[in-house]
Amino acid sequence: MNKFEEIGLQEEIVKAISELGFENPTPIQEKTIPVLLKEHQDFIGLAQTGTGKTAAFGLPLIQKIDADAITPQALVLAPTRELCVQIAKDIKSFSKYSGKLEVATVYGGESMDTQIKQLKRGAQIIVATPGRLTDLINRGAAKVKDVRIVVLDEADEMLNMGFRDELDDILKDTPSDKSTWLFSATMPKEVREIAKRYMNNPFELTVGQKNSGAENLEHIYYVVQSRDRYAALKRIIDVNHDIFGIVFCRTKMETQEVAENLIRDGYNADSLHGDLSQQQRDKVMGRYRQRSLQILVATDVAARGIDVNNVTHVIHYNLPDEIENYTHRSGRTARAGKSGVSIAIINQKEVFRIRQIEKIINKKFRLERVPDADTVCESQLMGLVKKVHNVKVDTEEISQYLPAIFEELNDLSKEEVITRFVSIEFNRFLEYYRNSHDININLSEKDHARGESEKYRSGKPRLFLNIGSMDGLDTGKMLGLLIDITGLDKTAFGRIDIKGVYSFIDVEEDKLAAAVASFDGEVFKGRRVRADVSDNNTRNKGKKSFGGGGGGSDDGFKKKRSYGVGGDRGGSRDRGGFGSREGRGGGYSGGREKSFGDKKKKKRF
Ligand code: AMP
Repeated sequence: MNKFEEIGLQEEIVKAISELGFENPTPIQEKTIPVLLKEHQDFIGLAQTGTGKTAAFGLPLIQKIDADAITPQALVLAPTRELCVQIAKDIKSFSKYSGKLEVATVYGGESMDTQIKQLKRGAQIIVATPGRLTDLINRGAAKVKDVRIVVLDEADEMLNMGFRDELDDILKDTPSDKSTWLFSATMPKEVREIAKRYMNNPFELTVGQKNSGAENLEHIYYVVQSRDRYAALKRIIDVNHDIFGIVFCRTKMETQEVAENLIRDGYNADSLHGDLSQQQRDKVMGRYRQRSLQILVATDVAARGIDVNNVTHVIHYNLPDEIENYTHRSGRTARAGKSGVSIAIINQKEVFRIRQIEKIINKKFRLERVPDADTVCESQLMGLVKKVHNVKVDTEEISQYLPAIFEELNDLSKEEVITRFVSIEFNRFLEYYRNSHDININLSEKDHARGESEKYRSGKPRLFLNIGSMDGLDTGKMLGLLIDITGLDKTAFGRIDIKGVYSFIDVEEDKLAAAVASFDGEVFKGRRVRADVSDNNTRNKGKKSFGGGGGGSDDGFKKKRSYGVGGDRGGSRDRGGFGSREGRGGGYSGGREKSFGDKKKKKRF
């Protein structure tokens, strides 16, 4: 008996996955599948992508569907379009021999009409992002009242992306006696809360170490000046000539810029970010999957859920704002038992962040030196020579040209021919690297230890706000906002950590309570701001976190076009400078914000 049959899977499913090359269950599949095949079993799986997680829930899910009934019986919720598409694709291939199983895939950024038609045609399984599904439920197009199984995939990521309200809405609409299967790479308090609220005595399983990436994943960092990041990236790619990699950038603009520079410099690269149309994104992904593209330059969001096997390197051109995203990024390589390398290019000030990541992933990084010109040239040369050695010669096609070629090269010795052929490529590198210098920063002992001194001020309470980068805030804007709302001088504020939907700020201890109070009743971009004192300021441990805070609407913000102006509260302090008073109008929403550093202006925005 096949191992998959032994753990309870039907013959039709086993046949389909054998065709995909699944011979033995991965550890998560071995442990999860028998549990999920039981009746009414809620489940929590702490697992990374790349472990075979999709099949772990997908296979029992298919087995439990009644293919003859055409109502939605299972709902899979995932944070991004890419992940939804991947899950739907996997489910379709797993169910190749399991009767007429229809999967509807719904996500934002695409026409509602097509998705509504798809749902009307009927599907037993809906794979969806929470935002779009909520819209479709509200329009009466998606029906979830007969759902027997709900899968929450990458639950932490869904909450990180601010989908808590949508998850609540959707889960409330589903029958209370359904089974809920939750998968998450990390288990923050907010995920626990969801589990507590919606699950019944769940079976819990941790695969691998908490938060740690794959065992076969190496972590390396290079330290350079910020201005040398691109030069370092090129050298890293140049010494890894067989690279099939993803370069992660922090912003769309940076992504575009790095990709354009790489293309200009002759690399086989392209970009993937949210400003591209869906069609463009599909095209880029298609080329990458087929390996006609060697380097994909991507933002975190765009690259989430990418399931491409054999990615050799993940390069962090800039570290992610949220440290947790490091695991998501690096999980794109070293998948399904393969090995991989995760490389961070950092500046001297960011060494402490490497120390923080090490703590989270429970693994050490190796500091390496950006290769010098000689090393790059030698590596390129040897790569080329190996290519020559291994090239598949199409004797039939080339034979007609050979007599003329031999004739042309007749006066050269074998050594001369080799030298000249190799030089064609080598000269290009030599020229480029001729005047290059050492771009490594030599770290002092103090730098190495920096993690200790610069980590969050453990033990001291900080200001927590439920607004963050998702609301368009960065450190500068946040500081402006803090000064504006609290009326305190900028010296009252220390370190500012902007997360996705929340932020932590160091505030002078005796001013912290007043700072919290001053946010009372404030509304930002339609969201009621919640301020609080975090009980412990190590990572993410705010008293309040995630979640929208409710209240307000985008519309309301547009009318006010500035923070807290208008009737939300009858505050006496002057908020005028926040866009409206000086008639600049743009506030946080437009591109006309004045930067914080503009010292001539009394108000910053
Ligand atoms: P996932 O964690 O679901 O993203 O899966 C990671 C990769 O492993 C995917 O490309 C799957 O197709 C592959 N995979 C999953 N289960 C198995 C298995 N039992 N044997 C071989 N490959 C697998």
